[in-house]
Amino acid sequence: MRSLKRKIISSAFIFLLSAGGYYYFWGQYLYTMTAYCDCPICVNVDAYRDGRFASGRAVYWGGIAADPSIPFGTQIELVPIWPGDFWSIFRVLKNRKKFTVEDRGGKIKGKHIDLFIPHSHGGHQMALEWGVRKMRVSINGELAK
Ligand SMILES: [Zn+2]
Repeated sequence: MRSLKRKIISSAFIFLLSAGGYYYFWGQYLYTMTAYCDCPICVNVDAYRDGRFASGRAVYWGGIAADPSIPFGTQIELVPIWPGDFWSIFRVLKNRKKFTVEDRGGKIKGKHIDLFIPHSHGGHQMALEWGVRKMRVSINGELAK
């Protein structure tokens, strides 16, 4: 029994060490993830609240905003690591991890992605619940650096 306890403690320790190491080495590749809906608070320019993304397509669940260097139509997949990330993806995104770049934003520059949450998926309330998360992503199937 004693050795089992020791095994559990040491594997917990190794887990924490590797999780810490993961962030130490890969932290520079983390993307800032925010969320928005098409309410006047999230989109404060009336002309942009026309039911269309910057790509011209009508807004839909699964479209997101990204840096202008990432072309429209690019597939972005979230790569969650922490339990909190899985929980937020489950609660707010209904377990959806794959998204398509359709939109731009004045503040969406560099490693920053803004997830569009339609009103049918909770809209503003869910965007607030998502808050600001840091996560790795894969872009067109390749882990982003
Ligand atoms: Zn909103």
